[in-house]
Amino acid sequence: MSSIAERINEINAELPGSTRLVAVSKYHPADAVAEAYAAGQRVFGESHVQEVVTKYNELPKDIEWHFIGHLQTNKVKYIAPFISLIHSVDSFHLLDEIEKQASKCNRVIAVLLELHVAQEETKFGFSTESLKSDILAGKLKEYPHVEFKGIMGMASHTDSVELIQQDFHQIAAFYKEMKTIVPSFSELSMGMSGDYRIALQEGSSLVRIGSYIFGERDYSK
Ligand SMILES: *Cc1c(COP(=O)(O)O)cnc(C)c1O
Repeated sequence: MSSIAERINEINAELPGSTRLVAVSKYHPADAVAEAYAAGQRVFGESHVQEVVTKYNELPKDIEWHFIGHLQTNKVKYIAPFISLIHSVDSFHLLDEIEKQASKCNRVIAVLLELHVAQEETKFGFSTESLKSDILAGKLKEYPHVEFKGIMGMASHTDSVELIQQDFHQIAAFYKEMKTIVPSFSELSMGMSGDYRIALQEGSSLVRIGSYIFGERDYSK
């Protein structure tokens, strides 16, 4: 059985120089994060506020914590002091709160805007049409304590490589188009354990990989 360190080295060897690995450690104990840290990994992704706060307190302070799950407005205050990047910004209501909490901490918080293109129904994520019109209307300029770093997206949950490729292609095309309007855009977060190689072909700069590195998650805890 290969270790966490071996998996991380294996993935890093595949990544182009312009792409970084976000090791998704949600539902895995701090020990597993420490093992990845010992292998040189510094960027970790979490999707629950309480869990990332606990790990932040227990683990070395040079870790970059990325928030990748749905973020409730009333919990922004707990991660605002330390979070490095929020991948999952899916509404202007949430941005209003991030702006408020970042200002309170005297920080500028980096975020990605989450795009919804996949076939599954979900409440989360902007549509390309609505986000484009908001960006063109200059809405991103209303947030001095937020740095808009780019776009995050997920592909449809399917075995069809073609469909996954189409989804990532659409997200990447939107990112490139918006990058000409928003100069701070530099990150495109796409790709998970099952589909990151396809995401790399479409130009992902951040791959979010969990189970491939840490094994299956135990949701019973
Ligand atoms: C859990 C999660 C991942 C990691 O998924 P794996 O399939 O375990 O690699 C990536 N992105 C998001 C948004 C997630 O919630």
